[in-house]
Amino acid sequence: MLRRRRTLAGPQSPHCVVDGTPCLAFCSNDYLGLANHPQLVSALQQGAGRWGVGAGAAHLVSGHFAAHQQFEAEFAAFAAKPAALLFSTGYMANLGAVQALAGKNDTIFADKLNHASLNDAMLLSRAEVKRYRHGDMAQLARLLETAARGRKLIITDAVFSMDGDVASLPELLALCERHDAWLLVDDAHGFGVLGEQGRGALAHFGLQSPRIIYMATLGKAAGVSGAIVAAEQVVIDTLVNHARSYVYTTAAPPALACALSRSLELIAQGDALRARLQQSIAQLRRGLSGLPWKLMPSSTAIQPLLVGDNQQALQLSEALRARGIWVPAIRPPTVPPGTARLRITLSAAHSEAEVAQLTEALHELAH
Ligand code: PMP
Repeated sequence: MLRRRRTLAGPQSPHCVVDGTPCLAFCSNDYLGLANHPQLVSALQQGAGRWGVGAGAAHLVSGHFAAHQQFEAEFAAFAAKPAALLFSTGYMANLGAVQALAGKNDTIFADKLNHASLNDAMLLSRAEVKRYRHGDMAQLARLLETAARGRKLIITDAVFSMDGDVASLPELLALCERHDAWLLVDDAHGFGVLGEQGRGALAHFGLQSPRIIYMATLGKAAGVSGAIVAAEQVVIDTLVNHARSYVYTTAAPPALACALSRSLELIAQGDALRARLQQSIAQLRRGLSGLPWKLMPSSTAIQPLLVGDNQQALQLSEALRARGIWVPAIRPPTVPPGTARLRITLSAAHSEAEVAQLTEALHELAH
């Protein structure tokens, strides 16, 4: 079970040199292939030229720059929300937002397959926690009906990070309306990929509500780093004042915000990239039918192949590695016991021939 890191000798890409060996990788969250995009590289370089390298202080001290402010305004407009707040990472955004919005007199309702950062966040908040079975809206409705104390906050991944399925956000919002609850949507894996112009999971469902607190991470499809929370102005003001992972940390370098502004433009213009990604998803799902291992039901860039046994999942991952293909095995505790899997992630940067290389290798290994 001991994990170790593998070292890349170049930029993030489907073609990377890992521990000295070239390989074809299906494991990053760089869904649009932007992590090494020349326009983002140059926006970051120009940003460093203009703003320097370090922010030098927390946002509430003297570390809040016009570049941060501009990106927040651009993101809020893109997400059709009144305001937005930039955090250094998605982990910190979840910790900060949940802990600022729910305290020990409140109740948090959480999907059991939520990301670790949401799980940690709800514990840190000291709110009463009620977890519902993955996607079980009936159980959630029952939990909401039993007297909950204080403010009610439902927290959920939009696209579940280890399964790739999409939360029933319209049903979640309807429950929030019925029970006067807030909904925090972690769209780490949907932003940039789902919805018109990559606006994310809310746009995918055509949802808008002042009850929704929308969180997107910026180190995945956006190709850079950080995370942003978009919500009503009063919510953002609350986070600025009470989100401890915002208040008590040095601001991210303003140059990153410059790269993020450019990334937002590329995402908005990225229909061709999203179409390419969809083609790869369809090709993979066609290509992997008939294997002893089953693809989990997912229409997103996260396509887990369920193996079950830890050792077998590791062996399969190793056998692919021996063929020059890198797909990580994901084991408990990251996923429930008995559901070890290969977590295949696709990117717009994968070609048809590369996806075929993976499907053929898995068929050979199955036989
Ligand atoms: N939420 C989800 C659903 C995630 O998958 C991740 C990243 N694995 C995060 C939050 C944390 O984001 P970051 O990597 O920016 O800390």
